[in-house]
Amino acid sequence: MSWFNRLTVRVCLILLGLLGAVTASYYSLVQRALDNQAPALERHLADARNKTAAGETARSTLDAAQISAQVLQSALARDDRVQLQSLVEAIGSDHWIRQVSLYDDMGHLVVEHRASRLVDYSLQGEGDVAALRRSKVPIYRIAADSRNVSAWAPIWGEQAPLATLFINRVVREHAITADTLENQVREVWEDLSSSLMVGLTRGAGIALLINIAAILWLSREIGRPYDRLAAAFSGLGKGRRVRLRTNEGPTESRRLSDRFNSMASDLEQANRQVREIAFTDAVTCLPNRAAVMQRLTELLDSKDPAALLFVDLDDFKRVNDVFGHDVGDETLRCVASRICAEVRSKDDSRPQDMVARLGGDEFVVLLTPPPPERALNKISNRIIRRVSQVIEIENRDIYVGASVGVAIASDRGSEADELLRHADMAMYQAKNAGKGQAIQFDSNMQVDADRMGVIERHLRNAIAKRELRVEYQPILNAAYQVAGYEALVRWNNPILGDVSPGEFIPVAEAYGMIGEIDLWIAKTSLRALSDFHVASGATPFLSLNMSGQHFVNDVFTIALLECLAASGFDPRKLHVEITETALLRDEEKALDIVERIRGGGVQVYLDDFGTGFSSRSHLANFQLDGIKIDVSFVRGIPHDDGKTNLTAGIISLARSLDLHVVAEGVEEQVQADFLSSLGCDYLQGWRFGKAAPLPAVRDVISA
Ligand code: C2E
Ligand code: CA
Ligand code: CA
Repeated sequence: MSWFNRLTVRVCLILLGLLGAVTASYYSLVQRALDNQAPALERHLADARNKTAAGETARSTLDAAQISAQVLQSALARDDRVQLQSLVEAIGSDHWIRQVSLYDDMGHLVVEHRASRLVDYSLQGEGDVAALRRSKVPIYRIAADSRNVSAWAPIWGEQAPLATLFINRVVREHAITADTLENQVREVWEDLSSSLMVGLTRGAGIALLINIAAILWLSREIGRPYDRLAAAFSGLGKGRRVRLRTNEGPTESRRLSDRFNSMASDLEQANRQVREIAFTDAVTCLPNRAAVMQRLTELLDSKDPAALLFVDLDDFKRVNDVFGHDVGDETLRCVASRICAEVRSKDDSRPQDMVARLGGDEFVVLLTPPPPERALNKISNRIIRRVSQVIEIENRDIYVGASVGVAIASDRGSEADELLRHADMAMYQAKNAGKGQAIQFDSNMQVDADRMGVIERHLRNAIAKRELRVEYQPILNAAYQVAGYEALVRWNNPILGDVSPGEFIPVAEAYGMIGEIDLWIAKTSLRALSDFHVASGATPFLSLNMSGQHFVNDVFTIALLECLAASGFDPRKLHVEITETALLRDEEKALDIVERIRGGGVQVYLDDFGTGFSSRSHLANFQLDGIKIDVSFVRGIPHDDGKTNLTAGIISLARSLDLHVVAEGVEEQVQADFLSSLGCDYLQGWRFGKAAPLPAVRDVISA
């Protein structure tokens, strides 16, 4: 309800109160007036009653006079005064009769009976007496105060009047007492007041109803434009397009509607701008993630088929790090226009296609309807080729590559998120398979991803639940004596059983658990080897695997060196195995970390040597202590000439650089002999022992 409506209601309530007050005062006024009137009413009532009684008395007096006149007639004729006197006495014996007088035809008193001698009621004016003598019928007169009645009855002889009989009689007092009269008055009053009350109540009820109806009507009538305005505001708030009619209602409301409409259109325009900003990537001016997700959701909801290419740049981070963010942004803009050119140049008939930037160095291409598989591959490869061409910014040559993951929305119905995830998974596969290529999603990737999810869930509590343990694989010197042990982690989960580190270490790396795990392995194995040193007197070295994740920052390195110092283990007896991919990510940081580790007296070995692309350059750039020849080379010895020669080349290269060489995966004696003959320093493999708990000290001494 608007403020105006509230005001209306208030006004109506005040009016209602006033009406009540007026009614009450009117009621009391009427009551007072009636109270004042009561005595007058009483008087009038008594008067009326008296008059009625006087009338009755008059009639009976007249009757009595007439009868008495007849009785007196014969005595008059005889002029028997004695009998006349006794007859008059008899008439006057009635208690209520106060005077009986008999006059002759001349008006002289003949006989008389009076209750009191003091008052003569018969005395009348001369005119009256003359009129009475002429009258042939009896007449009466009621006293002015209605308290007595006089009657004159003529007594006629043969032709002439003989006499006139006069009787005065008291009007009998009326039976109604003052009390009954008061009661009657009160009854009348109560009847009157109750009907007055009923009337007033009805009146007030009707007034109330009229008032309520007026309030409702007023609030509807006056509040309607405001209610409409309120509804319009709420609609506007919900992003609906609302316009009010400006040609109805009072002037104020029209003006308000007008203002509202102009405000609504301003707001809509502002919203459109905000939407444009919200759906556009600021760097490349391409549609952004929100835009692509909205478009994808629309397409999938309407079951339109679509293909999604997830394009991720290779080595873009290096561009940012080396040339700065401005050049990085310029590179992204260039990549964006190249992708757009590749998607659109060949086919103008596909206006539905969309190129968007998800963020960072990630782009997506949405193709709808999806081209046939071969064409899809062609587009992907064209994009990769075009993006990989040199980019020239500020006279500098910049090289970036691209890996592409492809996912196709099946008409069975996919979710936008799901499709994007699939394309992302395929892109990761492309990266893992060596970058610069396009791979299409297949459901096995999903199975792998699901398995990773299960592993991740169980791995979170593995340390706390003591499901991890460390085993040690012996590393022998040229004399086939145990020179050291490589610590290899083992995981046994009650549900998943034994899970190989080859499977769960990448999960630990992907989900940020590797730091905790590697540190736990370091502590555990350092303690175990320290104890072993003390107990056996022998001092085999400990070789620890260090995940590539630890080369992003110094956190793990610092923790490892602290842990080493705390353990009292001789740093020179500790080897750390790092992989080439770890060095590739951020060479500068990697150089720094290798230096730190070596600065602590620890030796650094390059693991899986020969599997990377640029092993040679790393040997030159990094200060290392040794390399571990990958198992894939050793496996080829001595039947595979290529592998055998390569292994020989690696060993001589390492020797020329003064690096120690460990050969991994030695399963046969002939391999061991060949490797030893080339000057390989250490041998490791199942030929000499699998990873196991450290041997009991007794066994070592007796060996
Ligand atoms: P890696 O560092 O190259 O470890 C050597 C792998 O080769 C081990 O597999 C070992 O059992 C296996 N191996 C040893 N001798 C032979 C042999 O004669 N023949 C064959 N076919 N294989 C042999 P494992 O233990 O399954 O470890 C796999 C990988 O898991 C390791 O490869 C390493 O990259 C990773 N890993 C293991 N333990 C740790 C750890 O504590 N921390 C980290 N970050 N990674 C670890
Ligand atoms: Ca290793
Ligand atoms: Ca290895």
